[in-house]
Amino acid sequence: MRYLSTRGLSPARSFCDILLDGLAPDGGLYLPETYPQASRADLDAWRSLSYADLAFAILSRYIDDIPADDLRALLEKTYCARTYAFTRPGEDAGEITPLRWLEKDRLGLLALSNGPTLAFKDMAMQLLGNLFEYVLERRGETLNILGATSGDTGSAAEYALRGKRNVKVFMLSPHHRMSEFQRAQMYSLLDANIFNIAVTDLVDAAQDVVKAVASDAGFKARYRIGAVNSINWARVLAQIVYYFKGYFAATQNNDQQVAFCVPSGNFGNICAGHIARQMGLPIARLILATNENDVLDEFFRTGVYRPRGAAEVTSSPSMDISKASNFERFMFDLVGRDPAIVCALWAKVDAGKPFDLAGAPYAERLAGFAFVSGKSAHTDRLETIRRIFNDHGVMIDPHTADGLKVAREHPQDGIPVLALETAQPAKFADTLRAALGRDPERPEALNGLEDLPQKVTVMAADAAAIKDYIARQAESAG
Ligand SMILES: *Cc1c(COP(=O)(O)O)cnc(C)c1O
Repeated sequence: MRYLSTRGLSPARSFCDILLDGLAPDGGLYLPETYPQASRADLDAWRSLSYADLAFAILSRYIDDIPADDLRALLEKTYCARTYAFTRPGEDAGEITPLRWLEKDRLGLLALSNGPTLAFKDMAMQLLGNLFEYVLERRGETLNILGATSGDTGSAAEYALRGKRNVKVFMLSPHHRMSEFQRAQMYSLLDANIFNIAVTDLVDAAQDVVKAVASDAGFKARYRIGAVNSINWARVLAQIVYYFKGYFAATQNNDQQVAFCVPSGNFGNICAGHIARQMGLPIARLILATNENDVLDEFFRTGVYRPRGAAEVTSSPSMDISKASNFERFMFDLVGRDPAIVCALWAKVDAGKPFDLAGAPYAERLAGFAFVSGKSAHTDRLETIRRIFNDHGVMIDPHTADGLKVAREHPQDGIPVLALETAQPAKFADTLRAALGRDPERPEALNGLEDLPQKVTVMAADAAAIKDYIARQAESAG
């Protein structure tokens, strides 16, 4: 399998060659040259597989430059019940992504947040950690991951890469902007290869530092600086698996259809759902939910993509985006995989201008992709958290609440909706308290997390000083 850039100006490459990269050299995103098809016989054979075996069945169609035995071993090491251990009452503890019906055969919660950082980003990042270690070892290379986070991504990356050989992680976080729980999650990692840098300015300033460092080609090459952001193809690929797993858990046979509801930000999660559907999984609908940052909802309702200047800060912060970084992958498919059209559209986006695909032939193609969408605001979130708790005795996090709010607006007779649970409520105590007047449940093993010793370096958002710090740590042994 070869991978193409959505801009069409970079050579096609193999999986391991694009694994460590973000953008293609021409500024596009990588996609497989075709989507492998899951036949009826495949679906029948895959229905009863364990998560790791299902992951192998799917990923081995996309990855042909890792020997099958090695790939299988990496997937078994990644998707084991020991890593996804934070199951809750009513969930099957042996499952990696347990399904819990709120209304039997009508509305289910697919738990994707039972991994070490209690957010769905662990599903892909844990695999990325093992793949990175494997490929670096094979090539005799080292890598320094640099990123900026306001919560879920940074901690998922650190937990996936902690203790891994040949990788160091430099993660910038806003000093006073994360919850106490999120800070404790990251800063309590004492592994020698994890470097937390608390930046005394805002998230945007930290992001600017990352951009400044990444655009210094000499520095980047000398210290082998890499990223693990949401445009990484392997992250999207890993996420395809749970759409299949959720489908099999919710249905008795492969004649049935389901809908998935996805709380969305950078369009990574739901992009994996789109690809699962293109592979032949019987998905009736993909229901996209946004928060107040509704650039994607606007597109799916009107056909107009109008990126915003800056994101609004909300109580579902992991969906706060002004443009959706994975959206270009979906656009590539929508415009019939013509890179010249993608280049023209993104020339507009990069100039801060909207584009409009409401007319022919795009409207018809878009309808064929079976997306519907909606948005949810702060009061909807609180109301939904309360309603689900009162009606079902289940606590949900603010992002999952956005999804359930929108799912309810798109019922379809006879088609169950699986709402993806993207985080556990324990991560967002303030919002849970505002909704329910009490603290969220948290996994017992994480009691006292905030009291553990922490390791963090506080710095200003000064690119030169931070480069200097990275250079010193990168050159030290270990
Ligand atoms: C990252 C994240 C999202 C958004 O996912 P995308 O792949 O960026 O669309 C939603 N909910 C939670 C809890 C997240 O961490």
